[in-house]
Amino acid sequence: MANNSAAGIRWDLSDLFAAHDDEKIETTLNDCRARAMAFAERYRAALNSPPTLSAETVRDALQELAVIYEALGRVGSYAGLLYAADTAKPEYQDLEQQVEQRSTEIRNLLLFFELAWLKVEDDFAAKLMRDDQLKPYRHYLTSLRRYRPHTLSELEEKLFNEKDNTGRNAFGRLFSEITSALIFRLERDGKTEELNLSQILSLLHEPDRSLRQRAMETVYQELSQHGQVLTFIYDTLIQDNLTTDRLRHYPDPMAPRHLSNEIDGAAVKTMMEVTEKNYPLAHDYFRLKAKLLELPQLALYDQYASVGKEVRPFPYAKAKEVILNAFEAFDPSFRNLAGEFFAKNWIDAEIRKGKRGGAFCASPSPQLHPYILCNYDDNLRDVMTVAHELGHGLHGCLSRKQNYFNYDTPLTTAETASVFGEMLVFDYLLDQQSDREVQIALLAGKIEDIFATVFRQNVLTRFEELAFSARQEKRLTPEAIGQLWLEANGKYYGDAVAMPDSYRWGWSYIPHFIHSRFYCYSYVFGQLLVLALYRMYKDQGKSFVPKYVALLEAGGSDTPDALLKPLGVDIHQAEFWQKGFEEIRGLTTKLNALI
Ligand SMILES: [Zn+2]
Repeated sequence: MANNSAAGIRWDLSDLFAAHDDEKIETTLNDCRARAMAFAERYRAALNSPPTLSAETVRDALQELAVIYEALGRVGSYAGLLYAADTAKPEYQDLEQQVEQRSTEIRNLLLFFELAWLKVEDDFAAKLMRDDQLKPYRHYLTSLRRYRPHTLSELEEKLFNEKDNTGRNAFGRLFSEITSALIFRLERDGKTEELNLSQILSLLHEPDRSLRQRAMETVYQELSQHGQVLTFIYDTLIQDNLTTDRLRHYPDPMAPRHLSNEIDGAAVKTMMEVTEKNYPLAHDYFRLKAKLLELPQLALYDQYASVGKEVRPFPYAKAKEVILNAFEAFDPSFRNLAGEFFAKNWIDAEIRKGKRGGAFCASPSPQLHPYILCNYDDNLRDVMTVAHELGHGLHGCLSRKQNYFNYDTPLTTAETASVFGEMLVFDYLLDQQSDREVQIALLAGKIEDIFATVFRQNVLTRFEELAFSARQEKRLTPEAIGQLWLEANGKYYGDAVAMPDSYRWGWSYIPHFIHSRFYCYSYVFGQLLVLALYRMYKDQGKSFVPKYVALLEAGGSDTPDALLKPLGVDIHQAEFWQKGFEEIRGLTTKLNALI
């Protein structure tokens, strides 16, 4: 595997447990089980006889639940992180599966609480929630009830949970195992290199056109080899989702996601339509980029080609310095928090065989600090990835003020801090540069990142809509899915970018489709929201900082709509979303001026 500047940068998970065979894992699971059984014994009757149910009882129950969930989260995160860091190691695979099974068993013992709470009549529930003892849990208790029309009996819910381990979760694991074991063989300088997915995808940024073209062809060639299985997995999971929706009475395939995002579908619809109206902004940019590359028309593999002069290689130590400085310019407390991630080894950055691709930040619970995984490959893009994940990390740290139930944000606002972190680092880098060629590279890179987040994720979401709707008619074949994929992408690329036919496999490695349907629109949401917030920061200066910090500290203690109101944001207005695009236009204008 490649030898790069992040070699040896591994996370230290000893804050969680000592090793995969640490006895404390077993002890914790046993303890959770005992507590869960005691919990059921103590509260089941009380919860199921509402007339005598008191606010105090509900509060005590929630406090005990939080203790159990925190402990389970510690074990679950540990197993998940070990596995992500080395998916090929049998001990880690075993631990992950074992923990998943035992957690499910324990969660099943606790399931009655949420279900019983849902059964409480609206009036009585409202009366209980007015009690000040439940104030810290009000949002959680209220938002749980939004699932009331979609929740089944306790026995049915148990069956769902248990059967999912060998059902949809197993298909998810199969997908992860196939895609993280993928090896791409590429001829380069007379040698055959063996690359993993994230390494070969990063070649699409290379200046050498034929290398980009071969890299792209190799990716889709290899993916097509697994096409039958990948299609089967996706087709099965869509059907599984459709069945679930029918059993749970969801009106359409996006509805569960809107509900978990705590957002109403109308706001998302407006956002996506405004995004589509702005596709011509992308076409203009693609033509500009073709001019920069001296090509008559852009091909798909030219899309991310570097232009201008790149700052590279970009060693990991320098990334750290730049990010900390950029965060400090916003607020010194941001530097201090982010500094801990580096100093205390909460980041796993090196590239290793068997390690999960891409990047993520895990923020298990208010009692634990977050961990970051990435595959640092010495590019500017990797700097932005680290900035992104550290943004999540800061959010995860700041919201530790909240209780367990108010800790997590819905997906829509979950990307706010991460994308904001990227903006800070980008502006800092741009300011530092006086070389015109470097400025061109930075601006083009930023615009393309924003496109990948806004336009591409919009395309991904439209594709999912098409796939779900087609699956309602009949089983999906590789040909059919490929066609839908090309159709959704065609609207975005228009006649400005030529798509090769092999691109029909472009959908097949995207984990969101498998693990969390309709996840992708929250990227659009997050990015456009941040562009608007960032404009406000520039306008308002330091007086914006405390408002922003308060937003992050609030975690998931209210709906996104409510949390954003104090900042002057209305997500139902087309004009609000359009503001984000005006910011993008500002960037393309800046680039145009440099050329
Ligand atoms: Zn993110």
